[in-house]
Amino acid sequence: MTLELKNVTLGYPKKTVLKHVCMELHTGQTICVLGKNGSGKTTLFKSILGILPLLSGEILLNGKSVCRWSRRKFARLVAYVPQARSLPFPFTALDVALFGRTAHLSAFALPARKDRLIAEECMEKLRIDHLKNRIFTQLSGGEQQMVIVARALAQQPAFLVMDEPTSSLDFGNQIKIIRQVNELKSESLGVLMATHSPDHAYMCGADVAVVHGGELRSCGHSSRVITEKMLRDVYGVDVRILTISGGGGEDGRKICMPIIA
Ligand code: ADP
Repeated sequence: MTLELKNVTLGYPKKTVLKHVCMELHTGQTICVLGKNGSGKTTLFKSILGILPLLSGEILLNGKSVCRWSRRKFARLVAYVPQARSLPFPFTALDVALFGRTAHLSAFALPARKDRLIAEECMEKLRIDHLKNRIFTQLSGGEQQMVIVARALAQQPAFLVMDEPTSSLDFGNQIKIIRQVNELKSESLGVLMATHSPDHAYMCGADVAVVHGGELRSCGHSSRVITEKMLRDVYGVDVRILTISGGGGEDGRKICMPIIA
């Protein structure tokens, strides 16, 4: 399956955010989206999800325009982990994970035992099953984030769009998410993930898309796209890209080390 952006221009009625974006995400592929704050990552994701109408161009899911998919069918294939989470009612964490099953239920049907088991399994996978009966609004930001990821996994989608899923997580939970993304890749999911850390792209063996200056500046293999020059241009900092041994991969793993003068 493929999610394809064809010459898409996106933004808001009075503000164009990104112009002429062309990108393809296949199942089994991970793309990390890099770009400084305000560069358009969230706007890109909301446009892909049909939350924001496109200014021009077309987004295709399996060859069919996203706006022609019914919301329910689309949600069976594409799940979203948003940045902001506010739930007005005191649901338990398991209830929140169960919301992920909604797209698979017929209208007015309640979740069945099977749906509950799937939601529980997703929480176990993320090692947050101990939070099952806790009230979502009383969880820490990081715990809430993990529950939202469990909700998206319970949706059993073909594509997962994650907007900075690690931003409020401690170091251990960040690594858990990275491991989970790698597992999803091996299960043939397509993952599009915004991150502030180029190292996450290395850890996920991901391709990289860079949004900068109102356009998709480059998209491709991390070794080609993540360069010291790109990091300086985009983030305005000096970074050395080093290769370390013992970090995974035959030739070692790359890491980005900022130069603190
Ligand atoms: P990122 O996710 O990369 O931090 P965003 O996609 O949130 O960036 O924002 C991209 C640009 O769009 C920013 O300049 C932001 O101020 C602007 N923007 C975000 N939401 C709106 C909105 N509802 N109306 C107009 N402009 C917006």
